Amino acid sequence: MLISNNNNHKATAPAVEKPLQFQLFIPLLSLLICSFITFASQVTIAPQIVKSASNISAVAKSAVAEHGQLSIKDGQLVNQQKQEISLAGPSLYWSNNGWAGEDFYQKNVINNISQQWQASIVRAAMGADFKGSYLTHPEDNLKRVERVIEAAVENGLYIIVDWHSHHAENHTKKAIEFFQHIARKYGHLPNIIYEIYNEPLQETDWHSVIKPYSLKVISAIRAIDSDNVILIGSQSWSQDVDISAKDPITGFSNLAYTLHFYAGTHKDELRAKAQVALDAGLALFVSEWGSVSADGTGDVDYQETEKWLAFMRKNQLSHCSWSLSKKEEGASIFKPSASTSGPWSDKDFTKNGLYLKEIIQNWG
Ligand code: MG
Repeated sequence: MLISNNNNHKATAPAVEKPLQFQLFIPLLSLLICSFITFASQVTIAPQIVKSASNISAVAKSAVAEHGQLSIKDGQLVNQQKQEISLAGPSLYWSNNGWAGEDFYQKNVINNISQQWQASIVRAAMGADFKGSYLTHPEDNLKRVERVIEAAVENGLYIIVDWHSHHAENHTKKAIEFFQHIARKYGHLPNIIYEIYNEPLQETDWHSVIKPYSLKVISAIRAIDSDNVILIGSQSWSQDVDISAKDPITGFSNLAYTLHFYAGTHKDELRAKAQVALDAGLALFVSEWGSVSADGTGDVDYQETEKWLAFMRKNQLSHCSWSLSKKEEGASIFKPSASTSGPWSDKDFTKNGLYLKEIIQNWG
């Protein structure tokens, strides 16, 4: 308004009019801008910036970057800062040649469960039993397991390297050969967790068979890797942790005992066994569990699974759910039509798979 009104006087009185414009208009404009910035920074802009910055750091920081070297302290898994932690992720299926799981031992699978599912851990189930296993095809199986170890390291995931056998005491030398190789190659990395015996059978005695086997394998690993956590199986498909608790392995640090459950079969009775072990100071690790029946069949038992999830939360137990496979059975995470590398959409998952994925996504 000032400018247009004084257009006629432009030639005669510019020196007087210009300072007037600056004196009145610029301070007014500055005042308006400053007021807006002050208001916006207090009310809207600042919180958004802070929030998005914290989201970025949460996404960018992997589980291993956040927690570092794990150990066992007073019967609990703790991170490098000695804080109790509970990790969650899926388990791969047996790695055996020609079975239902080998195709999932891929880098893209690990990338996707890290990025899509926000898993903090994954379990590689080195087939060490039955046809097509490490016992007869060591190179094929080792290649698969190493591929997923390296992908887990790239993604900052913890990875359980599991000797997936029901008869490990019959091949102790092979187990030692395998774990010493893994310890030499990867034992300096915080990502690695050793699981030395998936599931001893019901008739395999803890005191005279499983414990002596475990001592031999633990000694062999500790000769190379002095610190990474080692998981120990127990009698009856890694359920009788109460028996192990009465006669635990001593002389080594950073040991935990595996508790396996399938919600469709195992209920209060198994949680009571687990409680006995926890009360005795044993560290437990649920390296394998399912929402269906123990034989891998049947429908999801939501009610019992929720009880188990509450139990694991209460006791800060880490867990891996069975399994990354598209075999036609209840325990499989994927439908037969799903890709073996991902990324996956909801239609690729079984009802069980969708449920397990959501549990992992919401665990952290
Ligand atoms: Mg180490």
